[in-house]
Amino acid sequence: MAADAPGCLRLASPFLHGRILNKGHESSPKDVKSITGPKVIFRVLTRHYPLLPNRLMVGTKICPFEEWNETPRHNTLLYAHKVPTEFMGAHGFSITRHYLCLETAWRVAWSNVFPPSKTSVRTIGFNSEMDALPEIGHACGHNLIAMGGVAAALGTKHAMEKCGIEGRVVLLGTPAEDAGSGKIILIERGAYKEMDACLMMHPTPGPKLSAGTGSSLAIQPIEVEYFGHPARASGAPWEGQNSLDAAFLAYSSISALRQQMKPTHRVHGIVEGREWAPNIIPDYAKIRWLVRAPTAKEVEVFQVAAALATAYQIKLVEHPRVYDLRQNDELASEFAAVIKQYGGIVFANVSGAAGGSTDFGNVTYELPTLHPSFAIPTAENGRNHTRQFTDSAATKEAHAIEISVAKCIALTGLRVLIDGDFYARLREAFEGDDSGSL
Ligand SMILES: [Zn+2]
Repeated sequence: MAADAPGCLRLASPFLHGRILNKGHESSPKDVKSITGPKVIFRVLTRHYPLLPNRLMVGTKICPFEEWNETPRHNTLLYAHKVPTEFMGAHGFSITRHYLCLETAWRVAWSNVFPPSKTSVRTIGFNSEMDALPEIGHACGHNLIAMGGVAAALGTKHAMEKCGIEGRVVLLGTPAEDAGSGKIILIERGAYKEMDACLMMHPTPGPKLSAGTGSSLAIQPIEVEYFGHPARASGAPWEGQNSLDAAFLAYSSISALRQQMKPTHRVHGIVEGREWAPNIIPDYAKIRWLVRAPTAKEVEVFQVAAALATAYQIKLVEHPRVYDLRQNDELASEFAAVIKQYGGIVFANVSGAAGGSTDFGNVTYELPTLHPSFAIPTAENGRNHTRQFTDSAATKEAHAIEISVAKCIALTGLRVLIDGDFYARLREAFEGDDSGSL
């Protein structure tokens, strides 16, 4: 057992079911913040942060999911896989590369539980997203999420060692959030079953030093393919069946539908083809739609309407549905208190969905979770998914805020390990949350 460290002097042994005994009494929630010692976490993060290779910042240029085998991007992808795993390995974490047969996924873990199979001890999970957007790089700031996850897991481990907190910490490197929904695959393969709670963080624009836990939109990707018949456009157009016209008619129908849609709902898409030429009647076209609504339940109803409007369709393919974010109220309250006290950040528990979507929404249906957003300085009209945001997510200011939030994520997670009553409440909140249930 690790000796008590400065900042942890009130802590004593032994462990009891993942809790800590303090002079013979189980620690109360009030003690938790003093026991977990923000000083300890802040100290270790401050000490280790300069060691986090700056390469992490530029090296996490992971390609979209479908383009895994494209060689130049594949190389940067493997680089992004290599750097954080090696770094965490050097800090005592066990490493599983290419986790669950996903080439870009990884898992690093640390535990002081003995025997390792002991089930009465809790496991806290964190996520590091890494993927970038084609051509515009880290326009969603996933480089900050990658490093934030590393920092949170590292700080948690150090606090556990220094303060003698029993438990397990797991950090997943989760690929393809923006294209491919890698977390849905990880869920299907059981990656989150070992965790009792999971936390991650995401940068956004917003007022200086602010954070929040709004929801996100559920999303259903749909592909509609149109098959026609080619013809010489100038010689015998009457022999053709124009798939591009079919696609445009469907697109126009959906566009007309938008004026009757609720402001919380979204449908947007693009038309694609193959071997098109202006002097040939196109025999193939495809529209890739993204149908969004505040909850997974609503998106199901809504996609039916969208499908009906594309009555010309020949083939319709639905990709895995991304769910809305269900933030755990207990975790949100704890995080709000922590970030106000130790991060100097104003917290807003925003209700309703923000404009975007995330595959972490599906994780929130699996176990108690928290996905706070935090504001970084941005340029005017430079929200997520713009080149301006790529620049904003690479600044020293953004990284300083990210580390500050990572410390607070770590503090929130530590309470899950320490405080059984707190864990019972957040579990109850999870079980009772039927918003958006399918
Ligand atoms: Zn994102």
